[in-house]
Amino acid sequence: MTFVAEVVAPIERIAVAYEDVHDPACTSEVVGRYALCPPDVVDRVVRCAHAARTAWAAMPATERGEYLARAADAVERDLGARAELLTREQGKVLWESQLDLGGASRLLRYYATLAAGVGEEQVAVDERGTTIVRRVPMGVTALIVPWNYPVYLCLMGLAPALIAGNPVVVKPSEFAPLALSQTLASIAAVLPPGVLTVVPGTGAQTGAALVAHPLVRKVVFTGGTTTGRAILRNTADTIKSVSLELGGNDPAIVLDDAVLDDRTIREIRRSVYTCTGQVCFNIKRIYVHRSIQAEFVDRFRAAVDELAVGPGLDPRSAMGPLNNRRQFDSVGRLLDQTRRSGASVTELGRKVDAAGWDRGHFVLPTVVTDLPHEHELVACEQFGPTVPVIPFDDEAQAIAWANDTEFGLAASVWSADIDHALHLARHIESGSVFVNSHRVGSSDQTMPFGGVKQSGLGRNHGMWAIDECMELQAISHRPDTSAFPGPP
Ligand code: NAD
Repeated sequence: MTFVAEVVAPIERIAVAYEDVHDPACTSEVVGRYALCPPDVVDRVVRCAHAARTAWAAMPATERGEYLARAADAVERDLGARAELLTREQGKVLWESQLDLGGASRLLRYYATLAAGVGEEQVAVDERGTTIVRRVPMGVTALIVPWNYPVYLCLMGLAPALIAGNPVVVKPSEFAPLALSQTLASIAAVLPPGVLTVVPGTGAQTGAALVAHPLVRKVVFTGGTTTGRAILRNTADTIKSVSLELGGNDPAIVLDDAVLDDRTIREIRRSVYTCTGQVCFNIKRIYVHRSIQAEFVDRFRAAVDELAVGPGLDPRSAMGPLNNRRQFDSVGRLLDQTRRSGASVTELGRKVDAAGWDRGHFVLPTVVTDLPHEHELVACEQFGPTVPVIPFDDEAQAIAWANDTEFGLAASVWSADIDHALHLARHIESGSVFVNSHRVGSSDQTMPFGGVKQSGLGRNHGMWAIDECMELQAISHRPDTSAFPGPP
């Protein structure tokens, strides 16, 4: 056993239970453990954050920006060792962990540069009197984080919340709490006390207590749609602002004039199998024009067959294991049902270490054909290394199928005619639409990111994310009230 990391409870001298974090590439190995914070610990942490809020909110945003820049320096220092830890707890290959962690300092620095525009007041003085419109921080913000891209997705909520002037309490996922908590500890160490705290624990106990706490004024949640619904219900009694980044079932529409060269095929492959298919805006279904379906499937299968699957720390691996047993069982069940339904499930790729295969949550990549658009695999968010490929006859049909879902996170159009693809994009019901790409980088921190329909509420990135954690306040002075409506 190589126990390397621990997330302790944030309140000293409180005895709490601990839970192990297992390596998904070898589930008998324990990578670390995290404290299970009960509701009374959550309560004390939220009260400390609440006490810190006045001074943090009163500080000029540019000064908060200096704190964020110092936090960025701090998280960059231990990136190498932390990337290995993230791969060991999450499963993904090392470069993906580096990408995840690298986003932390990038987001902190980016939001530091936006500080000058935060909290600007609009003051109008006219014949009616004085009108002031200002944005004020909401107060204690709870961030609930998933396990697939834990660091980037946490920082996507954390950096704007902090620059806006809110203290933040983070609840990491029980499936990948270690590298994130270490990163947050580096950030918290350069911030004033109480401005950033981590409460490790389960969703049902710690997460539920945090989002329901009356002093929490804002919840930023990234995770599954079912949990998003539970959080909306659980915040109703205390009427708080909630931003939700939820699941997706992203379509890729490959038009008849798409360039089926190596670049396109590899881009689509990457968009499907990154993080073993466990990314909210991975491509989850591919619609290909019937005239090029056979060529596309042949070339795509050949490219997917190149993928070597093994432990994320093994440099020979292009794809790691699934993160946890729940996900492993869910993907296995879905593939069994798909096979039984008569669809053609082609298993591809190769095992890096055949002898160690059954020690982890490993699954070979698959490509599924001969199934209708109505199939379960097309309708659900599979969150695993498999993708259905379905032929379409005309663009209207492809757009109708792309929109025939309760999800609406992202989508892509693949074509040699960029103007036409940009035009078609306007007909797709999703928060983002990409042309000839579909992955991290297709959307960056300067573009609004979030879902429509049941993929979410609110937008991340840019000033939009800062606005999500601030409230508008109107202040007015009207010396002459005689013209006001109603009796004097
Ligand atoms: P999940 O919903 O199971 O868990 C997410 C977080 O919520 C965890 O920290 C968990 O402990 C916590 N949680 C669970 N129940 C809770 C409750 N009742 N109250 C408060 N907190 C609770 O999601 P996951 O399995 O970690 O992540 C996978 C899902 O997240 C997928 O559906 C994926 O599409 C989605 N996701 C969306 C985005 C996005 O940006 N839209 C990004 C990543 C993941």
